[in-house]
Amino acid sequence: MLSKSNYLEGLNCKKSLWFSKFNKKLRQNNEQKLYRFEIGNKVGSLAREYFGKGFQPKSKYYEIETAFKETFDHINNGGGLIYEGMGLNKDENVFALADILVKQNDRWELIEVKSSTGVKSYHIDDLSFQYYVFKSLGLNITKLSVLHLNKNYTKGDKIDISKLFLKSDISDEVLKKGNLTSLHIRELIQILSLKKEPEIEVGSHCKDCQYREHCWRDYPKYNIYNIFNGKKAEEIHKRNKSVDIKKLSPREYPKGNKLTDINAFLSGNIFIDKKEIKKFINTLVYPYNFLDFETFGPAIPILKNSKPYENLPFQFSLHIQENENDVIKHFEYINKKIKDFRLEFAEKLLKNIKNTGSVIVYNQSFEKNVISSLAKLFPEIKKDLLNINNRMVDLLKPFRSRNLYSPGQNGSASIKNVLPVFTNKTYENLDIKDGMEVSINYEIFFNNELTSKEKDIFFQDALKYCKLDTYAMIDLLKVLKNKI
Ligand code: SF4
Repeated sequence: MLSKSNYLEGLNCKKSLWFSKFNKKLRQNNEQKLYRFEIGNKVGSLAREYFGKGFQPKSKYYEIETAFKETFDHINNGGGLIYEGMGLNKDENVFALADILVKQNDRWELIEVKSSTGVKSYHIDDLSFQYYVFKSLGLNITKLSVLHLNKNYTKGDKIDISKLFLKSDISDEVLKKGNLTSLHIRELIQILSLKKEPEIEVGSHCKDCQYREHCWRDYPKYNIYNIFNGKKAEEIHKRNKSVDIKKLSPREYPKGNKLTDINAFLSGNIFIDKKEIKKFINTLVYPYNFLDFETFGPAIPILKNSKPYENLPFQFSLHIQENENDVIKHFEYINKKIKDFRLEFAEKLLKNIKNTGSVIVYNQSFEKNVISSLAKLFPEIKKDLLNINNRMVDLLKPFRSRNLYSPGQNGSASIKNVLPVFTNKTYENLDIKDGMEVSINYEIFFNNELTSKEKDIFFQDALKYCKLDTYAMIDLLKVLKNKI
C-alpha cells in the first residue's frame, strides 16, 4: 500500500522508497526531521483554529481502515469540514490523509497545511497524490490549496490566526500534472513488489537522503558533487561513469574558487595568496571584538513584534583584545528565562563590546541582519547597535575567497571545516556540535519542555559551543597573520 509520504519519497528516489519499506535499519537518524515534524504538528493544530469546529475521525492515523470508514460515513451523511480525513482505495493500493477537507454545496476543497512561508514545488506533488486518492473514491474535489505561514505577519500581544496564515490556491498546478500522477503511482507500487532493492545510481537527488551513508559508502567523500551544481555534476558523472575528481579531464575543470579547490586537491598543496591576506589584515583595527550569536527562529512567533522564523538572538560570545599581545578577555550572555530577552541581549552586548575597533564575525550577513532587527525594535539604542554593524569585518571572506585554502577543507569555508585543518582545535569533542542543535534545544527550553537538570546541561553546552566559535576566530586570524 502506497501512502503520500511513500509517494513523495519514491518520486525523489525509488531505492530510498524500497529501503523505507524493507530495510529501514539502514536509515540514519535525523534530529532536524523530527523537529520539523513537531513544528508541522503545532502549525496543524493552529490551522484548525483558523477553520473552526470540524469533524475528525476518532481512529488513529495508522488505523487506516476504520479512519477511512469514519471519514466516509461522515461524508455520506452530508457532513462538512473534516480534519485528517482518511482516503483509502484498496483496489489501487493507495491511501492518503487529508489535513483539511472543506465542503461548499456539493464540492470539496482539499487543503494541505504546511509550516513553510510559501508554496514549494513538492507541495504540488503532495496534493496531486491526495487529489488522485480522493477523486478515485468519488469525492468531488474542485479546489486544492496550501495553507502556509505568512512571512510578513508580525505578532501583537496575541497570535492573530486570521493573519498568521495565507491560503494559496494551487488547483491549476495540480491539475496540470494530469496522468503523470497515476503513472508515477503505478511505477512506485511496482517497486514495493520487488524482492531486491532497485538499482539506482547515486546523484544530486541524494542530498538530504537518510540512506546516504549506506549508498555512498564506496564513493570518495569529496567528489564532483562538491564541485559542480547538481545538473552539471550528473552530466559529468554520466559521461565519465565516475564521481571521482581525479577522473575529470582538464577541459571539464571549472573556473574561479572551484578551480583552486581542484588544484589543491590534486597537488595536496595549501594555496596562499599573501597579498590578499595582507590586504584583509590591514582592514582590521584594534581593539578586536570577536563576536558570535546564537539565535532561534520559531515557526509560530513566540515574542511580540516578531515574524515567523525570525532569528531571535538569545546568546552571544565576545572575546576582546585591546592591542597586539594584550590578554584576551571573554564576555558571554545567554538568556535563561522564558521572557522577551531581546532588549537585555542588546544592552548586555552594548555594555561589553568596545565602541571602537573591528567587530570580527564569521559570515557577517547573519550577524548584521540580527543587529539591524534589534536596531529597528529599539530606536533608543539604534545608533549604538548600528555602530557595531558599521565596524563589522567578515573573517569568512579570506577563506571563502580562497586567499588561504587547504585541500583538507573539501571545498568548504565553514568555520567547522576550516578550524581543524589549520589548528589543533575541533568541534568534535563538544556535546553540542552545531548551531542548529543549539537553536532546536533552545526552542524546546523556551517551550518549557526541559527539566531543571536538562536546562543546566543545555546552557553549559550552549555556552561552550558559542565560546569555541569566537575562540576559533582568534585562532584563524593568527593563522592568517602567520602566513604573511
Ligand atoms: S542515497 Fe541516493 S541513491 Fe541511495 S537511497 Fe538515497 S537518494 Fe537513493
